[in-house]
Amino acid sequence: IKQPLTDLEIANRAELRPIVDIAEKAGIPEEAVEQYGRYKAKIDVKKLPKTTKNGKVVLVTAISPTPAGEGKSTVTVGLADALSQLGNQTMVALREPSLGPVMGMKGGAAGGGYSQVVPMEEINLHFTGDLHAITTANNALSALIDNHIHRGNSLNIDPRRITWKRVLDMNDRALRHITVGLGGPANGVPREDGFDITVASEIMAILCLAKDIDDLRTRLSNIVIGYTYDKEPVYVKDLDVQGALTLLLKDALKPNIVQTIGGTPAMIHGGPFANIAHGCNSLMATLTAKKLSDIVVTEAGFGSDLGAEKFMNIKSRQGGFQPDAVVIVATVRALKMHGGVPKDKLKAENVQAIVAGLPNMKKHIETIREFGIEPVIALNRFTADTENELNAVMGWCHDNGVKAAITEVWEHGGTGGLELGKAVMQQLDQHVDFQFLYDVEDAFEDKVRKIVQKVYGGQDIHFTDQALKQLVDIKRNGWDVLPVCMAKTQYSFSDDPKLLGRPEGFTITVRELIPKLGAGFIVCLTGDIMTMPGLPKVPAAMNMDVDHEGNAVGLM
Ligand code: ADP
Repeated sequence: IKQPLTDLEIANRAELRPIVDIAEKAGIPEEAVEQYGRYKAKIDVKKLPKTTKNGKVVLVTAISPTPAGEGKSTVTVGLADALSQLGNQTMVALREPSLGPVMGMKGGAAGGGYSQVVPMEEINLHFTGDLHAITTANNALSALIDNHIHRGNSLNIDPRRITWKRVLDMNDRALRHITVGLGGPANGVPREDGFDITVASEIMAILCLAKDIDDLRTRLSNIVIGYTYDKEPVYVKDLDVQGALTLLLKDALKPNIVQTIGGTPAMIHGGPFANIAHGCNSLMATLTAKKLSDIVVTEAGFGSDLGAEKFMNIKSRQGGFQPDAVVIVATVRALKMHGGVPKDKLKAENVQAIVAGLPNMKKHIETIREFGIEPVIALNRFTADTENELNAVMGWCHDNGVKAAITEVWEHGGTGGLELGKAVMQQLDQHVDFQFLYDVEDAFEDKVRKIVQKVYGGQDIHFTDQALKQLVDIKRNGWDVLPVCMAKTQYSFSDDPKLLGRPEGFTITVRELIPKLGAGFIVCLTGDIMTMPGLPKVPAAMNMDVDHEGNAVGLM
């Protein structure tokens, strides 16, 4: 039997157009294009022509995923190509992949099959260096904090109360808890520290929410790095290093442009995870794409309980815009998993399990409706799916008045997404009465409770003693008026990754509250979620290599 081509092989066979041509097609003048090789560029937004364009935003989200992912990026890219084919000036806006999942569980994150952004290999590896710049800025701040303490600590920083951690763009559980400054007085002051993955750094969130370089500097200066011995917050502005951090990030702030295999211009910029951070590409990329195109197709990480909730309540709120349509990606295999089928049996036909798994999809539909938007289901077809299985999902959608289309964008690129494209265009013609799920002025506990009840379908919240103590300090400092950034498992609506389907009556335990004053939200850590992931037993890295010509092999 002929093996199907891998994502990397398909990407490598694609004929790429020079990035200046793609930029021109998107209405970006040459002087605004800063090329990184032939097929990647950064955009200097200050040099873009003034336009009155204000493209509509289509947000792609998903039902609660399997560990392999349900094809959100794939559908985002394929849908954009389909909308281009249907005559719309379209742009994609996606997140930059992190090396953590690339080396670990999921492999690449640039779409799949014939719906990919290219050059796939470079996008998945070091791209234009944004993640390195963020890592460097984050760790420069750590070094400056430790140096300040070593040099006499005039700010009276309590080394036991430093909340700023070092970061690395890798899954590395051995670095979660470390001790620094060992080796005597010449080597600094010993203290406990730890590493997060770069995508969870507040600097990543800041880069993704900053509107321009001045906003970036202001946000960086507002980062709280820890507390004094008198428990007063210490800001980056107290250390007076916001200028240096801004300098390290000045190029990273510029959105990157590449192309889809179908030739649609694609912005790829910023990459916070949706389970431990806010999960959306940069505001600069989305707002720039809105100014350049009629339709922007963008994605927020994991299911609607994570990325989409934060897209609406954090990104849209801070950016002063709203999504005009929402697509929920569903797959037969994920529905079977929610219907109780174990991982090794997901390929066998099982209509009964799909029916049992549909309540998960139904909850995601209800969640999007809570925001005043009527979602469209994209049923992402896999070769193992049978007609009976696909019919079970489409039949349910039809009977329940939910717009849905089967997409074959993985197999056929944009042509496989024309049905979906038409359904989305119809939806874009409808009036949307968008609403946030909570008011920032609501009591902090009420904001969390609203998310738990309206988005997760849970019953109540429980704050641990540690979280309650932190809440007292947050209120004392007047920070409780910020939006909430929930950190929760992607596998379940609850904080227990094993509770699949549509669990009910559960309580979400809030373990820790981390104020991110620069980003402008309070992170709520729930359940066992970790801000530094670990590698799986058989990491994707085991399949990777480089051939004699220097080409990547085994990058999924
Ligand atoms: P997500 O963005 O939801 O995490 P991706 O779009 O990254 O998911 O897809 C995850 C993986 O699944 C990729 O390797 C992609 O090639 C593969 N994939 C997506 N859709 C299909 C499909 N219809 N058939 C086969 N493989 C697919």
